[in-house]
Order: sequence, then structure tokens, then C-alpha cells
Amino acid sequence: MAAFLKDGTIADFQAFNHVVYGRIDDRYYATWDLLNQQQRFTMRALKGIRKRDTEKLKLNLLVSMSFLMAIANRFHINVEEEMWRRFPTLCSYCGKHICACKTIKPRNRKEVVIDNRLRPKNMLGFQKMFAKIYPPAKRTLADAGVHLAEEAGEVSEAIHNFIGQHKMRQLEDIKLEIADYLSCLFGVANSAKINVAGELARMFKNNCHVCHKAPCTCTFASVTRYRS
Ligand SMILES: [Zn+2]
Ligand SMILES: [Zn+2]
Repeated sequence: MAAFLKDGTIADFQAFNHVVYGRIDDRYYATWDLLNQQQRFTMRALKGIRKRDTEKLKLNLLVSMSFLMAIANRFHINVEEEMWRRFPTLCSYCGKHICACKTIKPRNRKEVVIDNRLRPKNMLGFQKMFAKIYPPAKRTLADAGVHLAEEAGEVSEAIHNFIGQHKMRQLEDIKLEIADYLSCLFGVANSAKINVAGELARMFKNNCHVCHKAPCTCTFASVTRYRS
């Protein structure tokens, strides 16, 4: 049986995704299909914000994160490493431990110094780190959602660029955009008081959260119809 535990790491969740979904992803899902589902569930999560339905927000956010891991697996991107490289306890744009982008308005990203002793031990640690860098009290849940939508668009743009031209620089952009997207996903979760690791552990305590098999046996059509 495959499970994700609440004290698990981002890397654990990515590996879990591979064990449970790697086979059907390889067989049935072109990169576009994975991207399509990741974007679809992100938009459904945003609908949860608009409807003030935390349950809807939560479920769709978690499914979109699961498809994000499938995309990262497709490109062999280590999400946790990219997250840490991009956000080593500070905002990668303004370089501050508590983001001051609104007042500084940086044009370019700062070169950041990475102190590995500060690296969070697990996924919950990363979520808490993001609550410090981007305090939820400083913006509304709706604003956090708009930022997530923006980053979802940038993930899509980066993947389209790379698949069109196959340049290494464009692969690097996919890594960056995946890290940005996930940082915003934690931002939304912090605003909505959702413990991502805890909820993932509840959802994925027994293989696939729908068919409860590992590898997953859900059909392509049933996933397309799935609405949480
Ligand atoms: Zn900043
Ligand atoms: Zn399944």
C-alpha cells in the first residue's frame, strides 16, 4: 500500500505520485493532458474561493498539486530542491525574509544566499516558511487566489515554450514556474488555514484517493469527469 504521511516531505509526495500515478500517466496522458488537468483543478479551487466554499477549495487545490507533481515527474524535476533553491527562507524577488515587494517593487530577482541549515524538514515546515515570507494577514484570500491563477498561467507558458523549442533555458523556466506555483498554493492554503500536508495525508492514506489502487486504475474518462 502506498500512503503519504502528514510529516512527509515534498519529495515524499512527489515519489508517492510516481508510484501511484506513474503508470497511467505514461500510458494515457500526454504532457498537455497533465497540464490541462492541473489548470482545470486550479480554476475549480478558485471557484471555491469565490463561492466561499473551503471544502471545494481544499479538494481542488490538492488535486491540482497532485497533477503538478505528475508534470514535474514527466520532466524529471525535483520539486523540493527547486522550492528550496528559489525560496531559502526569503522572497526570491526582493530578497527579504518578509516580502517587501509591494514597497520595493524589484525589477529583477535578487541573487539569494542559501543557508542549508535553515531548510525545512518536511512539507509542513515549507508551508510555515511561506507563512513567514508572505504573511497571510497582509493580503486577502482572493488576492492569494489571483496570484495562484497568474502562476498557473506561467507554468503553462513555460511548458508551451519548452515543448515548442526544446531549449535548456526553457526547461529551467519550467522548474522556476513550478516552484512559484507551489509557493502560491501554500500561500492560498495559509490564507484559508488549510494544512496541506495534513490534508494530503488524509486524502492519500490508501493509494489513489478515488480507486484506492496502486498503481491507480482510474480511466482517463473518469478523471476528466471527476469533480471535487
Ligand atoms: Zn518580495
Ligand atoms: Zn485511481
